[in-house]
Formats: sequence, C-alpha cells, structure tokens
Amino acid sequence: MALIVHKYGGTSMGSTERIRNVAKRVAKWARAGHQMVVVPSAMSGETNRLLGLAKELSPASTTTSLLRELDMIASTGEQVSVGLLSIALQAEGLEAVSYAGWQVPVRTDSSFTKARIQSIDDARVRADLAAGRVVIICGFQGVDDQGNITTLGRGGSDTSAVAVAAAMKADECLIYTDVDGVYTTDPRIVPEARRLMTVSFEEMLEMASLGSKVLQIRSVEFAGKYRVPLRVLSSFTPWDIDIAEEASSGTLITFEEDEKMEQAVVAGIAFNRDEAKISVMGVPDKPGIAFQILGPVAEANIDIDVIIQNVSHDGKTDFSFTVHRNDYQRTLDLLNAKVVPQTAAAQVVGDPKICKVSIVGIGMRSHVGVASKMFRCLAEEGINIQMITTSEIKTSVVIDEKYMELAVRALHKAFDLDQPSA
Ligand code: ASP
Ligand code: MG
Repeated sequence: MALIVHKYGGTSMGSTERIRNVAKRVAKWARAGHQMVVVPSAMSGETNRLLGLAKELSPASTTTSLLRELDMIASTGEQVSVGLLSIALQAEGLEAVSYAGWQVPVRTDSSFTKARIQSIDDARVRADLAAGRVVIICGFQGVDDQGNITTLGRGGSDTSAVAVAAAMKADECLIYTDVDGVYTTDPRIVPEARRLMTVSFEEMLEMASLGSKVLQIRSVEFAGKYRVPLRVLSSFTPWDIDIAEEASSGTLITFEEDEKMEQAVVAGIAFNRDEAKISVMGVPDKPGIAFQILGPVAEANIDIDVIIQNVSHDGKTDFSFTVHRNDYQRTLDLLNAKVVPQTAAAQVVGDPKICKVSIVGIGMRSHVGVASKMFRCLAEEGINIQMITTSEIKTSVVIDEKYMELAVRALHKAFDLDQPSA
C-alpha cells in the first residue's frame, strides 16, 4: 500500500463527464489498495471567467485590498471542483471528503495572487486516510495567518499537489494533464518532438523557467527541494487501463544524474516570446554604471533576465538587458525619466520583437562544444544572435522573434532530438 497524490488539471476536470472519469480512475487506484489524496484544478476556463468578472468592475486590481478579493473570487473555482469530485467518488461507492485550503490548513504568506506555501498540516488528512477515505484538497489556494484566503499564482495547483505530497511524504505525485508528458520541445512547432521517458529535476527546472508550460515552475522547485517523486502523464488514457502501465507512462522527473549522463547531451529545446530587449546606448563606462541603470529597474520590482555590456569605445559603452514584455513600456519610461538624465546616456532603445531559445541538458556539464554547435546551427540558418547567456546546463540565445520556429526546428534536428534515444 502506497500513499499517492494525484493532481488533475482544468481540462481533465472540464465537465461532469470528465470528472466522472477522474473519479473512476481514482477509484481504481484506491481499490488497488493505495491511500489517495487528490488535488484538482478549477474546471477549465473557470479561473479566467472568475477573474474576468472582477476585471469588469475594476480593470487594474493592484492594491492589496483588491488583490485580496481576487483571491477570494478565484479560489471558488477549485472549491466547486473538489465538491463535484467528492460526489462523483461517492457515486462510485467510495468514501470521500473534500477540503478547502483553509480547512487542511495549507498555510501561506499574505502575498495575494502569488502566495507561497509555508506549511501544510497533514493531521486531518491522515485521519481521513486511516479511516479509508479518499481526500480531495483544493489546488491553488491556502490561508494566511490572518485567516485570509490566498492563491498561489496561475497554474498553482501543480504546486499545491507537490507540496501536499512533500508534506505527507507521499510515495509518488502524479500530475495528470492534457499532454502525455514532457517533450523534447513543443510538438506544435516541431511535429517530430518526442516524449522524454525521464527528465532530471534540474533540466525540468530550466525547461519550466524557460517557457515550457507543462508544470508551474514553483512545483518543480518544491519537488527538487523535498525530493518528491513526480510524474507527468495524460488524463486522457482510458480510465481503466492497467495500473502498472499507467504508473509507468508519461515522464518521470528523476534525481539520478548518472543514469542520464549516458543519454542525450541536450534533453530539450525551450523557447519563449515573453521578453523584450532594452538597450541604454552611449553610457560612460565607469564603475557603478550597471547599478545606476539596473538599480532603479529592480526598485520598481521589474525582473531582469539576460544582460550584456559591450566593449567601450572612447569611454562610452552600450548596455542591454531583457525584461518581461508586460514591463517593457514601464521600463522604457523609467529609464528615460531617471537613468538617462543621471548617467548622461545618449539614448534608450527597445525591441519587443525578440525571443529566447535555449538548449537544456545536464550532459552539457561534461561535454564541450555544445554551445558552439548551437551557434553553428543558427549561423547555417542565417539567424543573427543578439544576446547569449549560459548556465552549467543550458545555453540561451536572444534572436529576432520571426526566426523562432526556424531556430527551434533546426536545433531540434542538430541535436538529434528527433531520433529515438538508444
Ligand atoms: N485554476 C488555477 C489557474 O487556472 C490554478 C491551476 O489550474 O493550476 O491558474
Ligand atoms: Mg496547469
């Protein structure tokens, strides 16, 4: 008998018919003798609908008092899901009970709309499991120390599920979703993309942060920190497939690096179009300049990603960095208002039409020439690289947005990701 956490995404919970299927699948696992905790998302589209209602009344909700209400509203989506799933399970003849985050409780800080989980009390859940019940816990939500309902940020049910699995030391956390695993890249762009049987936790972390949207990045961080055995798999297989077959489908997030070393050097290609590039031209090249430019940006709570500073000519240099596209105009305004006058920079120019393409693989640690192979591949396609950044296990380039698909396809092929691994 194992303690298993299942997480079902919005699509899997999208209709009463689908919820019935989820219930049958969970019932199959429970009848096989496992203790089951289930964490569902809101029915698909529901969170958007709820937040849309709020937006009609107040287009820009940014004050804490408004953000608090957004969480009050958005959290109801999951509350409906858990109740429906519990009813469906009881209709299957199982004992089941649903809980809102505050009832468990799942304790978080008070950062409304992006709260972080601090602790989960598992006593109540354990008692139910011991009494033979399936326990269903609302994803995405928690409660702060004032008793306010909080939510964890969009896609946060993944993090709820992994956090519950970590707190309960579950044997495995299975994330059921509308794709059947983690792919070498997005199959909508590269039809030859392959599902990875395993991916290391570090690669997954990079891929999630670089734009592959299979898992919320915080859930991956959580899984890494607490070493939660995590698997991503499809909820669209027939509910009654053999449990052993189901339990080995999808993609397993692993912690063993050695095993992986034997495999492909590059595990996948990630990309995103969420960033914009900003260059401060002709700033005096002297100590403190990076701080003078980026300090005000950081103070305005704007995240900076890639940064480059050029060689100086006649004591002047150009300084470029990327920010999220949502922060693009705000950053330009801020630089023009504060930084240009203070640094005597010549001008600030921006380009929102960029994308970032990355190769990711823990094998890059032990292989040389991987980045240069990437650069050669892009050169052969005539794609100009505007910026480069690397970590131990990834190399990212910033290129013109219009070459994104070409770059991803070419790199996928160059690194043999379309070939079945040995
Ligand atoms: N329902 C929430 C959202 O749409 C949380 C989740 O689905 O993970 O973002
Ligand atoms: Mg999701």
